[in-house]
Amino acid sequence: MEDKFGREIDYLRISVTDRCNLRCRYCMPAEGYGNLIPHDQIMSFEDIIRLVQAAAKLGIKKIRLTGGEPLVRRSIVELIRLINEIDGIQQICITTNGQRLADMADDLKAAGLDRCNISLDTLDPKKYSEITRGGDLSKVLEGIEAAKRVGLLPIKINVVAMKGFNDDEFADLVELTRDNDIHVRFIELMPIGHQDLGGDYGFISNQDILAQFPDLIPERKTEESVANEYRLPGAKGKVGFISALSNHFCATCNKIRMTSDGKIKPCLHSNEEIDMMGVLRSGTDEEVLEALKATYGHREQHHHLNEGAAPIDRDMNKIGG
Ligand code: SAM
Ligand code: SF4
Repeated sequence: MEDKFGREIDYLRISVTDRCNLRCRYCMPAEGYGNLIPHDQIMSFEDIIRLVQAAAKLGIKKIRLTGGEPLVRRSIVELIRLINEIDGIQQICITTNGQRLADMADDLKAAGLDRCNISLDTLDPKKYSEITRGGDLSKVLEGIEAAKRVGLLPIKINVVAMKGFNDDEFADLVELTRDNDIHVRFIELMPIGHQDLGGDYGFISNQDILAQFPDLIPERKTEESVANEYRLPGAKGKVGFISALSNHFCATCNKIRMTSDGKIKPCLHSNEEIDMMGVLRSGTDEEVLEALKATYGHREQHHHLNEGAAPIDRDMNKIGG
């Protein structure tokens, strides 16, 4: 189904938990995260399945599970299996920090997972531990190998670009794509939610990164990609740039988001949220369908961050990226 600006919405991103086993400095505070959502307000599997069934009837074909960290949600493999049984859903993906991926990759694949995006901002174990406040780089690297082995392809590596933190590693990260069929995507640091970068690390635009790699050849833009994609000459993998701020991709935005407490966000960069929990827990199938359809009417033509709009209040771990 299309929104009022003629954009076909076929992608639903669901945050299955606001909990996480890491504490990335651009996403969550170190500790004492006081406003975790109480368990009874987190969408149950029944809530999620009802939502996806309605979404599939409206033409949603692709589901991405995110978080928090989706792989810390109990029985996530079972949830994927249930979603995989819903008519009309053609692709299931996750975005993960990779810490538990090596242990779970076989089961995830068997349950019907198609792809995964893995977040990895640095190839240096010390820096990885610092930015994630305690994460283990070797676990992510094992996770990437496991994802390759079981065929969760193509593997996309999400790199949040930060001046003063990983700008000295951009060349190494780009180089990863030469001999491996993986996509490295640079994401601009967004002014969202809780940030504690200590004033040391800062925003760097994708144009500035791209300018450092004159060899990169632009790829033809595909409908579904939010990244502007490039390739090193003869490389197996691709390099992508996701520029939410400096070059927004609203005109081709095909997705809606569901927060872990059951609210549809028609636009990532707007504070507007539409609560679906009531209807999911007590409405008829028809009412769920109508309520979801009505949220499409709230989609804006584009976000207003570049025009000085305030960043949204909700933390990234409650939205899922
Ligand atoms: N825990 C999973 C992970 O890290 O991949 C999934 C959830 S995380 C919120 C989804 C994505 O959002 C990650 O790639 C993360 O790097 C990105 N992210 C979080 N905070 C961000 C920020 N302030 N600016 C840009 N990207 C951010
Ligand atoms: Fe957790 Fe992902 Fe946020 Fe890092 S970016 S704290 S891994 S939810």
